[in-house]
Amino acid sequence: MRDVSFWVWLAFLIGWVALRWPAMRRARKLRTRDDRRDTLDIALLVDCVFGLAVLPVAWRLGLFQGIGDRPQGLVPLVLGIAAGAAFLWLFRRSHRDLGRNWSVSLELREGHRLVTGGVYAHVRHPMYASFFLWGIMQALLVANWFAGLGGLFAVTLLYVLRTGREEAMMRSAFGAEYQAYAARTKRLLPGVF
Ligand code: SAH
Repeated sequence: MRDVSFWVWLAFLIGWVALRWPAMRRARKLRTRDDRRDTLDIALLVDCVFGLAVLPVAWRLGLFQGIGDRPQGLVPLVLGIAAGAAFLWLFRRSHRDLGRNWSVSLELREGHRLVTGGVYAHVRHPMYASFFLWGIMQALLVANWFAGLGGLFAVTLLYVLRTGREEAMMRSAFGAEYQAYAARTKRLLPGVF
């Protein structure tokens, strides 16, 4: 069960790469008008790669030597598949809705538009919400406490340290329009927070 769960986790990771790859290629051709990438933001991206990909692979290769392993059952496997399906669905939707305005780091594009439709009509950070679903999926599918929960930890760090800065950037670019958008939406969960 532990092996099957790990391969399912890997399949979701590969699914994510397949969705992100074309967006990365497209983004390379787009011009940036305000680049706010800094050491903290790059460190947060490295943190996510580490927590959401490197840790489970390192565990699978035996680098943890069994420390923190937990048994795996059918229930977490099924719940993990459900969380993973929700993750890829929301990730794809938010990428589609953001379109050319997406960037991996804190940037404003030339001709950047404020997106308030699609999944962005419901929450301001659907892509980060999808990363939380990835973290939940990983916690359920990777049968080791450290490698399993490491993804959620990494995403929480990204969310806590980036979201305020991203919203400040959006407010500086879109002023009252962003203010009104923020007043009628929550960050992650519609109607909750
Ligand atoms: N935080 C958002 C977007 C992540 S991608 C989410 O979780 O869905 C990060 C980039 O998206 C930021 O650098 C910013 O340029 C852009 N962005 C964020 N919210 C946006 C919005 N509502 N409309 C247009 N661009 C947005």
